[in-house]
Amino acid sequence: MTVTWEELGWERLAAGVGRVRLPGWDCTAGLVVGAGAVLMVDAGSSLAEGVRLRAQAEELTGARVTHLALTHPHFDHVFGAGAFAGAEVFGAVGSDSVPAEELRADAVRSGLDERAATEAVDTLVRPRHPVCGEWTLDLGDGRQVLLANVGPAHTAHDLMVLVPGAAGSPEVVFCGDLVEESGEPQAGPDAVPGRWPAALDRLVDLGGEDAVYVPGHGATVDAAFVRAQRDALAARFGVSR
Ligand SMILES: [Zn+2]
Repeated sequence: MTVTWEELGWERLAAGVGRVRLPGWDCTAGLVVGAGAVLMVDAGSSLAEGVRLRAQAEELTGARVTHLALTHPHFDHVFGAGAFAGAEVFGAVGSDSVPAEELRADAVRSGLDERAATEAVDTLVRPRHPVCGEWTLDLGDGRQVLLANVGPAHTAHDLMVLVPGAAGSPEVVFCGDLVEESGEPQAGPDAVPGRWPAALDRLVDLGGEDAVYVPGHGATVDAAFVRAQRDALAARFGVSR
């Protein structure tokens, strides 16, 4: 690698795994480096941000991004996808059915510049690989990443990305907005609150006790935090065990 994660403002989470907290909505984008393959997790909140992420990924890895996993169809996670048109794009099954105009309107309501929102929608790249259940993605050299459709919960189409630990390196779970650390989990009109606690049970089942959990927004957390958030959501939405 020519530069370090830190030099570009990224946080190194494990060997060949990092993430950056993006300005504006404090949205996370992640990167997993394989042998001859590079996976980006989420694409940023505008085409310009996606272009920046792609350039940083190339600087960090010396290779182009070959795979993109979108955790859920919300503008702050997918609007940079147009910058990765050449990559294999994965998302929870059905995530490509969310109308572009819905994403655009939500982005503008949330404070994204109208021109940037229109540009993102006009160039939007949708997942070509719908994930139902689980999908193992081989990034080469024994690095296998698990994509799991654990929703519906935060949206109707929630995908988590699990990167197994290597020698001396922890397992990393990219949670999308199933978990938030910097604020209360956001439940919009597209949320399925009754299923959310079960999605977090599954997340912890898959990730285990010792993983580093990366929320869609905020600092990394541990399994105990995710479990506590699960209980808080169950209480908030009146879901019994
Ligand atoms: Zn979201």
